Amino acid sequence: MASKYDVVIIGGAIVGSSVAYYLREEGFSGTIALIDRDPQFAHAATTLSCASIRQQFSIPENIRLSQFTLGLFRRLKEEFGSDSDIGFRENGYLILSTDEGLPVLRANHAAQEAEGADIVVEDAQTLVRRFPWLSPEGIAAGAFGRSGEGWFDAHAYLQLFRKALRTKNIDFVQASVTAIEREGDRLVAVQLDNGERLEAGTIVNAAGPNAGKVSALAGIALPVEPRKRSVFVFEARDRFDDMPLLVDPSGIYVRPEGSVYITGGAEHEDGETAADPRDFEPDWSLFEGTIWPVIATRVPACEAIKPTRAWAGHYDYNTLDQNAVIGPHPEVKNLIFANGFSGHGLQQAPAVGRAVAELIVHGGYRTIDCSAFGYERIRENRPYRELNVI
Ligand SMILES: Cc1cc2nc3c(=O)[nH]c(=O)nc-3n(C[C@H](O)[C@H](O)[C@H](O)COP(=O)(O)OP(=O)(O)OC[C@H]3O[C@@H](n4cnc5c(N)ncnc54)[C@H](O)[C@@H]3O)c2cc1C
Repeated sequence: MASKYDVVIIGGAIVGSSVAYYLREEGFSGTIALIDRDPQFAHAATTLSCASIRQQFSIPENIRLSQFTLGLFRRLKEEFGSDSDIGFRENGYLILSTDEGLPVLRANHAAQEAEGADIVVEDAQTLVRRFPWLSPEGIAAGAFGRSGEGWFDAHAYLQLFRKALRTKNIDFVQASVTAIEREGDRLVAVQLDNGERLEAGTIVNAAGPNAGKVSALAGIALPVEPRKRSVFVFEARDRFDDMPLLVDPSGIYVRPEGSVYITGGAEHEDGETAADPRDFEPDWSLFEGTIWPVIATRVPACEAIKPTRAWAGHYDYNTLDQNAVIGPHPEVKNLIFANGFSGHGLQQAPAVGRAVAELIVHGGYRTIDCSAFGYERIRENRPYRELNVI
């Protein structure tokens, strides 16, 4: 480990790894330290996520970020080698709506169509013909992704990037960043819990749910905090191989995962506060009280299901507008944010890595303009809200 780096990236899971990867892809020849305190990524949002990708967002930039990743999925072997496989299963999302929710569903659909996403809106009866296991009770319509949406293996996806980095002259540092030194409008170094001090030309905050705390180390407020999300695994008697990631109007989602199913989405955001960063205990009361009745109604054949296990992870939750914060701090320009994805960061990470790399190497965005996600809106308290937060 050197004591001085051109770029120090705090957080080495999917976002940090992607930034490092695309820096080299963009021809960056400076020194890079990729710091993470958790060598197994056991508590990272990346590995505790539901590993799904969709085009069904309300904001064009979010659709574009996911489309970039979809493009990467389509040419994975070309990019990472012929044995690359992340088990992408392109079953789509099906987002259901009541009568009341229809105007928003249609407005979102118009935004998705304008971006070329392959989404159809169908009424309840048409959906039941397409998916005979679905109950139309209380449903007016649904938006279904015919292609370009589905799920994959988050561990394999992260490993693709981590493995690719091994030959790209990156220093992997296993430590926790405990302090950031600042001189006026410049960050100058990070201090680690092993007593080391690394001087830094540029610092990228890729600390996931801990990003608010990392930013505070530099004396800069960032409204990103951990919010606990429980995911439950269950077995069902019947198999629905054509099942998309189904989102009920209540917000509960369910999708196949191999021969079993996963479900979640029962948390209420109203009045919710930051999670204890050490609390990874799934909240089983959500399954029994909220999730199971919804699934049994929506997919009647799932009335007799057997929950087998559960896990909990932390959303990297942006309390202002549940959207990413990407780009430099307006004054402290050598601090770059890649944070606050609020439940959709796994699928956006490659595009964000590319965008941040372009900023560092070329001084501006070239592939996807991420200015709308800039920190300025945080300071001005001007939300840029994503309506489809799952
Ligand atoms: C239950 C759940 C389901 C989800 N489902 C999806 C989904 O289906 N699709 C999707 O796109 N997204 C999903 N997400 C969101 C997605 O997982 C995150 O947005 C994404 O993984 C963020 O990646 P990251 O690398 O920024 O953060 P993380 O994966 O959390 O990584 C941050 C890293 O920073 C390190 N770190 C933090 N602080 C420090 C420090 N001070 N010093 C050193 N290292 C530090 C941590 O150890 C960690 O490894 C889900 C999240 C959860 C919790």
